Amino acid sequence: MPRYLIYVIAVGSFAVAALSAIILWPAADPQDAVERIQSYQAKMPPPVSETVTVTPSVVELVAAIKSGTAVTAPILVYHKVVEDKPKSVYDVTVTAFETQMRFLHDNGYAVISLTDFVAATSGAKVLPPKAVVITLDDGWENQYANAAPILEKYGYNATFFVFTNPIGRDKRFMTWDQLRDLLDRGMTIGCHSKTHPFLHKVKDEKTMAAEVSGSKTALERELGVIVDLFAYPFGVTSPEEEAAVKAAGYRAARAFPGGVNNSDETVFHLQSVSATEDMRRFAAIFRQPEPVVAPPDDSPNGN
Ligand SMILES: [Zn+2]
Repeated sequence: MPRYLIYVIAVGSFAVAALSAIILWPAADPQDAVERIQSYQAKMPPPVSETVTVTPSVVELVAAIKSGTAVTAPILVYHKVVEDKPKSVYDVTVTAFETQMRFLHDNGYAVISLTDFVAATSGAKVLPPKAVVITLDDGWENQYANAAPILEKYGYNATFFVFTNPIGRDKRFMTWDQLRDLLDRGMTIGCHSKTHPFLHKVKDEKTMAAEVSGSKTALERELGVIVDLFAYPFGVTSPEEEAAVKAAGYRAARAFPGGVNNSDETVFHLQSVSATEDMRRFAAIFRQPEPVVAPPDDSPNGN
């Protein structure tokens, strides 16, 4: 073989390798994110009923009393909505999702948007009785295929918190067209970072800005709407994250989990409740203590 041909082949293969590395490099990231999510979920203790009907901590109670805007509507968090038995306790089957939406409907719960919920924390809106908020995390394609039609059937708004990196690149996640379609169908899109990292471990400001602010800009550019709700990847918050979220211009941010008690003090780390397959546990989420209301003076027999 002539020497120049070996040279051409060598340079050629190097160029091909370099080019594929460049092309494939960004695609590797969604895969990492999926692994991060799955291994984190596998490590987390399964949610139990006791963590649902939490009583507010002293700090929360003091904050709520001080501000007078305690809000105790559950913010439900779903992950994958799958056809077959879920692999993680944080995922549900489409049958369970349907049963849970029907439960809300049949028991007179009022599904409100997270945007209205946030307005209620500042006193700008009054929540209807039995208010509940629905959120779905990560932007899985199965949420579009399986959850959206059921939400639509009941006329429920939900906020889909998506991270931008896999959109249109990884089939397990929704495409931009699907996200635009969700908006057309009355759903809300929120931001869940760019690559779903452990944000509290991000120390340099540039990366933090790309994750929190760059992702917001990308969503707004592609969807043509203001995206002002954020959900922390893995639900974990830190003072640095909260500062970045506020600086990026978000109105509110949801943490995970924490319970059902929120107020204007928790707008940037809204507590939430994980929805699971367990229907008894799901029903228990709504079994909150009744507010104490004094009987009217003119009640006929005093009760
Ligand atoms: Zn997530």
